Amino acid sequence: MSAKEIILPKRKAVLVAGGAGFLGSHLCDRLVASGHVVYCVDNLQTGLRQNLHQLEQNRCFTFIQHDIRDPLPKGLKVDEIYNLACPASPLHYQADPIYTLMTCVVGTRQLLEFAARNSARFVQASTSEVYGDPLEHPQNETYWGHVNPVGPRACYDEGKRAAEALCFDYLRLGKVDLRVARIFNTYGPRMRADDGRIISNFIMQALSGRPLTIYGSGKQTRSFCYVSDLIQGLMALMAVTATLTAPVNLGNPQEFTVLKLAKLILALTGSSSELSYEPLPIDDPQRRKPNIERARDLLRWSPTTSLPQGLPPTVVWFGECGQAIGGKKRPLPVDYAPRPVIA
Ligand code: NAD
Ligand code: UDP
Repeated sequence: MSAKEIILPKRKAVLVAGGAGFLGSHLCDRLVASGHVVYCVDNLQTGLRQNLHQLEQNRCFTFIQHDIRDPLPKGLKVDEIYNLACPASPLHYQADPIYTLMTCVVGTRQLLEFAARNSARFVQASTSEVYGDPLEHPQNETYWGHVNPVGPRACYDEGKRAAEALCFDYLRLGKVDLRVARIFNTYGPRMRADDGRIISNFIMQALSGRPLTIYGSGKQTRSFCYVSDLIQGLMALMAVTATLTAPVNLGNPQEFTVLKLAKLILALTGSSSELSYEPLPIDDPQRRKPNIERARDLLRWSPTTSLPQGLPPTVVWFGECGQAIGGKKRPLPVDYAPRPVIA
């Protein structure tokens, strides 16, 4: 092939809303590494500038402190938009439930309008929480879910469901070319030590010799996806050329009980922490496991990192939480077991 025939991948301008968060910062890294120009839009509600330290000097990266509930800054032109802006841990999204619901609905609408004006392709980060406490197992995208619309999780579950409804209305009206990812529990470096989720709580507790807090019997299940797999899935979803008229599950179908996860983390850290049984949070889903056939077929995507492979780098990350990162100290949280509303 002559030099003339070499086709370089088109450099795109990509907006990542929520780009300072756990998933968003990894996505920004991958997009910049792929040669794109990235605009990270984030109000730092739960995200951290330190997550973007490695990109701050890169000319292809711009951080814009902005709340997506407000109209996007004028003059910004992009080809693609990922909407990850929303608190994701139960502790964080329940801390200010009205904010969470409005971020999902008003924020998503602002971004969809912006996408329509830019003719930009759009990926919406939805969640397995749209299935609520599912009565079907594993969860297919065709399942409509079992959600308590008035409980303490509703601000997130119903917010994300409303955001999906908005997205598909924009699609049906021909306003935006979009795709909806239903993301299942994802973990890895850059999770916040104080976000109250199971992986962060258990690792921080194990490393500090405190008891691991098992909510309920510990027999409830989750299926954990490593962050690099998930980011690859999101980018594959954006890249697919077909019009997608339905959501796509992204997650790792390997299912673990809470107790099994506790034992894995104790073994991995060599910790002698005990188990402490505590009440189950209200409306806590009992079983969760994605059916990812649709992602396999449409995107040729499936996760490659098992939980035993993904936990060690995550433990290293949490172990370094007190070390200097990006020239700043990340303080260890005083309370390693913050938790959401209980039954
Ligand atoms: P995160 O809390 O680390 O990141 C969310 C980011 O959005 C933060 O940087 C936060 O500051 C920003 N944000 C929140 N409200 C905003 C607003 N109004 N305007 C601008 N920025 C705002 O969470 P995460 O784990 O990285 O999750 C990212 C997305 O993926 C969320 O939409 C979440 O619902 C979805 N998701 C995540 C998981 C998971 O396991 N991590 C599972 C399902 C869905
Ligand atoms: N959980 C637990 N101990 C903890 C934190 C969470 O037993 O310290 C349980 C929680 O009750 C739920 C599961 O772990 O059944 C996953 O909780 P997480 O908050 O990580 O995410 P969710 O999937 O509920 O949004």
